[in-house]
Amino acid sequence: MSKPLLEIKDLKVYFPIRSKNLFGGVTKYVKAVDGVSFHIEKGETLGLVGESGSGKTTVGRSILRAIEPTEGQVTYNLDGDAVDLAKLSDKEMRGFRKYMQLIFQDPYSSLNPRMTVRDIIAEPLVAQNLAKGDEVDERVREAAAYCKLNLEYLRRFPHAFSGGQRQRIGIARALISRPEFIVCDESVSALDVSIQAEILNLLMDLQAEFGFSYLFIAHDLSVVAHISKRVAVMYLGQFVELAPTKDLFLSPKHPYTEALMSAIPEVNPDIEMAPVHLEGEIPSPINPPSGCRFHTRCPYTQDICKTKIPEWKEINPGHFAACHFVDTLHLKGVEMPNSEDAN
Ligand code: SF4
Repeated sequence: MSKPLLEIKDLKVYFPIRSKNLFGGVTKYVKAVDGVSFHIEKGETLGLVGESGSGKTTVGRSILRAIEPTEGQVTYNLDGDAVDLAKLSDKEMRGFRKYMQLIFQDPYSSLNPRMTVRDIIAEPLVAQNLAKGDEVDERVREAAAYCKLNLEYLRRFPHAFSGGQRQRIGIARALISRPEFIVCDESVSALDVSIQAEILNLLMDLQAEFGFSYLFIAHDLSVVAHISKRVAVMYLGQFVELAPTKDLFLSPKHPYTEALMSAIPEVNPDIEMAPVHLEGEIPSPINPPSGCRFHTRCPYTQDICKTKIPEWKEINPGHFAACHFVDTLHLKGVEMPNSEDAN
């Protein structure tokens, strides 16, 4: 069996908080990501969901080394060689960037308003010296065509385009270096629902054509369901559940997943599912709660949850969760929204 494209082990990203006194020493850390392990297969989409502040964007960006990991391994299996990205020098990492790209959340602010569409799409090729002269234009036209952008648009500036068209420009920029792995960071969240579906379908078409692996980050489980083969659920810097998409929806094993699902509007009008109300805001990652980090908001919490960290265990093949009562809670699942067999 071939190795996964990416293997992440015990990834931690801590941001230091410095005191405001004269010496400015580090007093505390924001533990944005606190020990996550997972893999992504070649050609697979792994969905990553959680509320704002859960650490999901930091996971994506630290794999790309746009944010430096504090600890852990990020192994990229490139043509049979295992490369630990966390250990590469900045120079070595620059040479690696062509394999990995990021599609941003906000199609309005992520495109430089002073650059033409042609120059925006060409940027990774030029910055990494991957092509010169006519080949740049040829590859820009090819990437634009794959993203169903009218070639006449290439001379225009981004302000002339709608959100959906801008996101197509961002996708063309991501695919021009012919990457293997793309982090889609809330890439459809700012778009109308009908445009979201178009962009998701485009991402899936490109995956079928080029075999991309995606880490698809979103706060909305229904969006993730549409595109992902497996889904990881993140809370306060840690994974609480990871499962094949269908298993996660039909049979969630963690109360936080159940709560996220119950918040999907009209998941299935035939199933009555009262929203599970979570008390309060997500706690601060500077001082996460003891025991199970979810205990301050969990509707099923018991005394043990306040003191003992739940074990991350495999309940069914490929289905992991961290909850003391994983075998006794009967949580409500739902039919997958937009149920299609994702990759
Ligand atoms: Fe809720 Fe306790 Fe399970 Fe944590 S361990 S999710 S607090 S029941």
